[in-house]
Amino acid sequence: MGIVIVGGGLAATRVAEQLRRAEYDGSVTIVSDEVHLPYDRPPLSKEVLRAQVDDVTLKPLEFYDERNITLLLGSAATGIDGDAKTVRLDNGTELAYDDLIIATGLVPRRIPSFPDLEGVRVLRTLDESLALRSHAAQAQRAVVIGAGFIGCEVAASLRGLGVDVVLVEPQPAPLASVLGVQIGELVARLHRAEGTDVRTGVGVSEIVGHTHVEKVVLTDGSEVDADLVVVGIGSRPATDWLAGTGVAVDNGVICDNVGRTTVPHIWALGDVASWQDALGHQARVEHWSNVAEQARVLVPSLLGATPPEAVVVPYFWSDQYDVKIQCLGEPEGDDVVHLVEDDGRKFLAYYEREGALVGVVGGGMPGKVMKVRAKIAAGAAISEILT
Ligand SMILES: Cc1cc2nc3c(=O)[nH]c(=O)nc-3n(C[C@H](O)[C@H](O)[C@H](O)COP(=O)(O)OP(=O)(O)OC[C@H]3O[C@@H](n4cnc5c(N)ncnc54)[C@H](O)[C@@H]3O)c2cc1C
Repeated sequence: MGIVIVGGGLAATRVAEQLRRAEYDGSVTIVSDEVHLPYDRPPLSKEVLRAQVDDVTLKPLEFYDERNITLLLGSAATGIDGDAKTVRLDNGTELAYDDLIIATGLVPRRIPSFPDLEGVRVLRTLDESLALRSHAAQAQRAVVIGAGFIGCEVAASLRGLGVDVVLVEPQPAPLASVLGVQIGELVARLHRAEGTDVRTGVGVSEIVGHTHVEKVVLTDGSEVDADLVVVGIGSRPATDWLAGTGVAVDNGVICDNVGRTTVPHIWALGDVASWQDALGHQARVEHWSNVAEQARVLVPSLLGATPPEAVVVPYFWSDQYDVKIQCLGEPEGDDVVHLVEDDGRKFLAYYEREGALVGVVGGGMPGKVMKVRAKIAAGAAISEILT
């Protein structure tokens, strides 16, 4: 029996680590459909793609051995029997659990109406990053569809490899839905300064080729020659395997504010999980630091202890060219944006909602971003920071 964790990424590793740190001495088993040791994803669109790093393993094998954490790699979970408290694997095995933790992450969205041509890729896994990297070594002209974080990072990394890049985004600016149009324009400016052809307000209507992609037709009728296409239009929670299990899913596994799902003894965290926030809303977060925050709350709750009550200020970063874009707090696209620094490349902006400072976004301004953490946590008036 013991605890079974389904998923072999950051969330699985963090939660297993926390369980042992909390001196849980029952069995801990990680079930992952990937064959690799759990690894870190942020470098996949950055250093791995740029061929600067190959090994992104989170912890060496000894880490799991020393803590008596069993790794079942290359095994997908295919279902759960919540009454019998068993999880079924694709090799037919049934694993019994006392508690089950779902940490299955996301599956990248594809565009089903487009033909399945060579040279059209998505990026979520290490294998996909390595395949994209070797493809990029021969590519001359790439189209990146979608200027979200991963699309922007891939565009930047491909430019760094000397590939001509067209970055296509239907919204008015890259990252507009997260950071708003004004700051999105500064991100577009950064890409253009590096030679990326940023096309906003336009989508992709067709991908054309025989066996290999040859060109992309945009919704404004223009055509772009391409020998590589990266689809970066977001991801959906990896929850298909939960159908019929009774675990409620609605844009992620529905959880309370400590990670409990709708089925007793089943928990969820990380990118796949939609936790209840302080206002009682369900919210799913797709950022690295959120995983550790959730593990710190879920593990004591599961073990019957009281979770820490620290105020968490959400944080994420994105590396594009030599600029680290950092976001602290919870800015939204329609907040009032105060751009307080802008040297033509680096920038700093505060986000205001109903008179309060709700977030800060900086490009190449690490110290200045982190400095306002306490003010965001305290819900300080915007006037306090602007004076
Ligand atoms: C390319 C890329 C770049 C990123 N860059 C940044 C960044 O710069 N900053 C930032 O804040 N965040 C970044 N992120 C987000 C961050 O990596 C994620 O928030 C984090 O990886 C989430 O961890 P997770 O364990 O929830 O999910 P994952 O890391 O996706 O792990 C889920 C694991 O579960 C496995 N799995 C799925 N279904 C099953 C099943 N049925 N049975 C068994 N195993 C299964 C998957 O194969 C995978 O190994 C990036 C993500 C990607 C993909």
